[in-house]
Amino acid sequence: VPTIIIEKNDRPGDSWRKRYKSLCLHDPVWYDHLPYLPFPDHWPVFSPKDKIGDWLEMYTKVMELNYWTKSEATSATYDKAKEWTVKVTAMARRLS
Ligand SMILES: Cc1cc2nc3c(=O)[nH]c(=O)nc-3n(C[C@H](O)[C@H](O)[C@H](O)COP(=O)(O)OP(=O)(O)OC[C@H]3O[C@@H](n4cnc5c(N)ncnc54)[C@H](O)[C@@H]3O)c2cc1C
Repeated sequence: VPTIIIEKNDRPGDSWRKRYKSLCLHDPVWYDHLPYLPFPDHWPVFSPKDKIGDWLEMYTKVMELNYWTKSEATSATYDKAKEWTVKVTAMARRLS
């Protein structure tokens, strides 16, 4: 399925980085793997938010995701032709 990921933050993972300092994921790391690239075996069981933020940024790049940062979705409508129209502002750059 062709996909564009729209993210209003500056970098992938920023929504984790901006959370409180002591935050770790709530589930053990082995429940949190993303497709194709499991977390390394030596990672902490409960991963700190900045490690997750960096992992998501790395994942975006190496998986060549179609990811637009600094871009905000301002509206979305679904019409009778069964198509979505999404308005996006401030599309600053495309990462991949
Ligand atoms: C403290 C905490 C601990 C958690 N621990 C775990 C865990 O251990 N294991 C687990 O599986 N899940 C965990 N979760 C849940 C998990 O984080 C969420 O289920 C998951 O992040 C949801 O992914 P998402 O992409 O749907 O939403 P999000 O991760 O919230 O991503 C949405 C993104 O969209 C961006 N955005 C929002 N509005 C706009 C807009 N209008 N235009 C552009 N961009 C926009 C935001 O900046 C954000 O980056 C935890 C959640 C929290 C809060």
